[in-house]
Amino acid sequence: MAIRVKREVCCYCGGCSAVCPRNALDLIDTYLYIRKDLCIMCKNCIKVCPLKAIEVVE
Ligand code: SF4
Ligand code: SF4
Repeated sequence: MAIRVKREVCCYCGGCSAVCPRNALDLIDTYLYIRKDLCIMCKNCIKVCPLKAIEVVE
């Protein structure tokens, strides 16, 4: 299980990055990098995203 960002939906607001307890989301300009090795699947980012741009994938 991992998270995935729907890049065509994301507006680069940075909200997900701000609530990640592991700093697993790095917003650099208009690209959101996911550090899957750091993610603990707390789903904070999914809950906070205003556009529902983050989903869980198997
Ligand atoms: S699920 Fe939690 S740990 Fe993983 S990227 Fe989102 S906020 Fe960070
Ligand atoms: S909270 Fe959602 S819209 Fe904002 S940067 Fe994260 S994935 Fe993109």
